[in-house]
Amino acid sequence: MSDILFIIDAGHAISTPGKRSPDGESEWTFNNEIAIGFEARMMQYKNAEITRVDDRTGLVDVPLIERVKKAVKLGGTAYISFHHNAYLGVWGSHGGTELFTKENPSNSTLALAKAIHPVLVESYGLRDRGIKHTNWQVINHNYMPAVLIEGGFMDSTTDIHVLRNKDKLRTAGALVADAVAKHYSLVLTTNSELQTTKTMNRTHKIVSGDTLWSISKKYNVSVKKLEMNNPKVIPHNLQIGALLYIERVALSLMNPNDSNSIKSLGTIEIHNLSIADTESR
Ligand SMILES: [Zn+2]
Repeated sequence: MSDILFIIDAGHAISTPGKRSPDGESEWTFNNEIAIGFEARMMQYKNAEITRVDDRTGLVDVPLIERVKKAVKLGGTAYISFHHNAYLGVWGSHGGTELFTKENPSNSTLALAKAIHPVLVESYGLRDRGIKHTNWQVINHNYMPAVLIEGGFMDSTTDIHVLRNKDKLRTAGALVADAVAKHYSLVLTTNSELQTTKTMNRTHKIVSGDTLWSISKKYNVSVKKLEMNNPKVIPHNLQIGALLYIERVALSLMNPNDSNSIKSLGTIEIHNLSIADTESR
């Protein structure tokens, strides 16, 4: 099987005017998390390659036409652009995820959108605004299947809670990667030791009578792993109502038997790697 090249971008730069939540958080900070989650997961598939055509540091707003040109020049198989939405820029009760293709999309573009759509809805857990069509530059001028994901509204009082949850965004990125990989019939590089993303970021709210032991039995995870996943809760903040991570995305992305993969795929390390890599600017 020849390699499949995924071209991605995380929307606008940090400095791009507008593109902020009413509290001043830049859209890029949300987009970047789902893009990192996507990339980290997709890197685990055989024959999959990824190039980010935006600036990984978020400092430079690479013109959209430059992104498209680079994608075409590289001969990408598919283009996925990660964004988050805004309505009027003031807090409101609107919200939801949506997915865009260009108007009159090719069959292959539509098929890609349909593969991603259910996972997007499920992973964000927000209102389903469906698959829509509009001729935005990055998805209009592509000679490859191209979709643009809007993962919830930055100015929605409901959606913002999901957007501020980095683990949730990274998990969404990983699950989108799984859906895309499946769509292109890719298989994971590693064997069954690799944990499935389906269990990523499951949480448990502590109720009266819970013990670490009973929770570990219930979810079939070791007490040690619970401790690793919840350094801020265990042992000092274990109380009724506290949220425990059963799985966490950064930890789930590793092969648990390989200590090197912990180092290379930990949350902080991914971020640093990204900043150091100027190759794709
Ligand atoms: Zn955007």
